[in-house]
Amino acid sequence: MSVTGDQRFIKQMNKQIVLQTIRKEAPLSRAQVSLTTGLNKGTVSSLVAELIADNLVYEVGPGESSGGRRPVMLMFQNKAAYAIGINIAVNYLSGVLTDLVGNVIEKVEWSLHVKEFDHVNQQMVQLIEQLMKAAPPSTYGIIGIGVAVPGIVNEEGDVLFAPNLNWREIPLKKQLEEHFQLPIAVENEANAGALGEKVFGKGKESENMIFFSIGIGIGSGIIFGNSLYRGKGGYSGEVGHMSIETNGPLCTCGNKGCWELFASEKAVLQQGEALYEEVLTLDDLFEKARKGEQTAIDLFQKIGVYLGTGIANMINALNPELVVVGNRMVKGRPWLEHSLKQTVADRALSFHAEQVLVEFSDLNENGISLGVSYLLIDSFLEKKHE
Ligand SMILES: [Zn+2]
Repeated sequence: MSVTGDQRFIKQMNKQIVLQTIRKEAPLSRAQVSLTTGLNKGTVSSLVAELIADNLVYEVGPGESSGGRRPVMLMFQNKAAYAIGINIAVNYLSGVLTDLVGNVIEKVEWSLHVKEFDHVNQQMVQLIEQLMKAAPPSTYGIIGIGVAVPGIVNEEGDVLFAPNLNWREIPLKKQLEEHFQLPIAVENEANAGALGEKVFGKGKESENMIFFSIGIGIGSGIIFGNSLYRGKGGYSGEVGHMSIETNGPLCTCGNKGCWELFASEKAVLQQGEALYEEVLTLDDLFEKARKGEQTAIDLFQKIGVYLGTGIANMINALNPELVVVGNRMVKGRPWLEHSLKQTVADRALSFHAEQVLVEFSDLNENGISLGVSYLLIDSFLEKKHE
């Protein structure tokens, strides 16, 4: 690399450091940026001028003075661009339009009654187009689309296998890139949920965390040393398919007695139908519990015990500091939290249990969509300093 090449590289790196500092810690003054980053004031001033010209940073009125003239404060321009995050659940499809800091500008959710890829894909394209239309005018427009899939996704963004959708070998990223001509990220939904919690939710301060996505199936996303742990091929975290009953019922994955057959939305729906002798949705069952119907309340308490059992196994295996329970089952929190936490307390090893907090996501159902949209935001901000 030539000297000029080196200099350009260093300048880009410094610009990125300044941008990330303002993004995470705004409002702050140029002097505070200089202090935080260790870059001299002249460098900070010229990089900030460029970031203001890029419309990624703006100035606001004077902040607190430490003696002299009150300094102008710098803010991150979170509305310079927007991203889209889609969550392909099994019985519904949802998506958000978000700004650069995870504020949801628009949310759309549609039921899915047919699981065939072509149908779901058609619906998804329409849903994305609807979200795109909702984007306010901005400097960079829509910077990309992230799609979370309940299945095994490789590094090329192909869906290798989604057992609950019965999808195999779908080059989803490539297809969406061709259609929308925008950057696309395809990620496993539990990994996306873990990122959502790490960046926007309860996991901001946690180095080691497990996010459990309790949907039709169960997946987990593991944050290990502040980063998403993906395993060799990106397939880690398929905890829903841990066998908990050696000769249990057959699962869509081909294995028997998988955890998700006892503790997921699928388990709630099947058991709800058997108990009430009619087909009910998850919301119907939540409503019954809300009205105080003991049958529904007992059902959620039982699901809590099964959830707690699998979570305790994972706590013993990985010794995390935080567990976050997410996805749609969070709405059942009033009826399953107690039995879930009690089961974790009873079954996790005491050393592990003492060090872990078990929480429910407060990103509502948006954590997974926000997490997958963050992949685009992150790469946009990384490249923007060039
Ligand atoms: Zn299975």
